Amino acid sequence: MDGCGGFVNRHTLADYISEESISEKVAELAEKINNDFAGRDLLVVGVLKGSFIFMADLVRKLDKPVVETAFITVSSYKGASTKSSGSVQLVCDIDKPLKDKCVLLVEDIVDTGYTINYLTKMLKVRDPDYVGVCTLLDKPSRRIMDFTPDYIGFSIPDKFVVGYGLDYDGRYRNLADVRVVEFQ
Ligand code: 5GP
Ligand code: MG
Ligand code: MG
Repeated sequence: MDGCGGFVNRHTLADYISEESISEKVAELAEKINNDFAGRDLLVVGVLKGSFIFMADLVRKLDKPVVETAFITVSSYKGASTKSSGSVQLVCDIDKPLKDKCVLLVEDIVDTGYTINYLTKMLKVRDPDYVGVCTLLDKPSRRIMDFTPDYIGFSIPDKFVVGYGLDYDGRYRNLADVRVVEFQ
């Protein structure tokens, strides 16, 4: 069907993870993080753009004495492709020093592992006390770099998903739930 500006859809979306399941999972992850880092301050770093909604929901459930927030922007996909290019580019760095900090990276999804492997290596050089990774979604069957996130919301099969921050060619980040893209 032609949409605004003559955009032609060659895919459809199917329901996958409901808003309610996501919200329960975020609360569960926050509880684990709160227990694991009891009494410690955290610097929570969202990996943009995909993590922005997950990050916002997660940090509001953390009960640390001090929760600092920062963002880092990387890009690994090219245009409308659903395949990782394998080369990760740093688009915008964190605006804070990490020395002696307890850093928790927040990701939307870990797929091949290229992005999170690149980021954790890059941040560890800055002498933090700890670098951990919390991801909403994990696709272990697609892994190329050996990497296991410390906190995983949902482990999913090899499907291309959108919503709750995740996009397909810039679209669908605003959906409150997670859906699977079905290509025609
Ligand atoms: P990796 O470097 O692990 O291959 O991929 C990390 C990035 O690829 C994610 O942060 C995300 O932006 C993108 N990505 C991987 N799988 C999916 C997916 O199923 N849907 C969407 N929208 N993005 C994905
Ligand atoms: Mg991401
Ligand atoms: Mg994307």
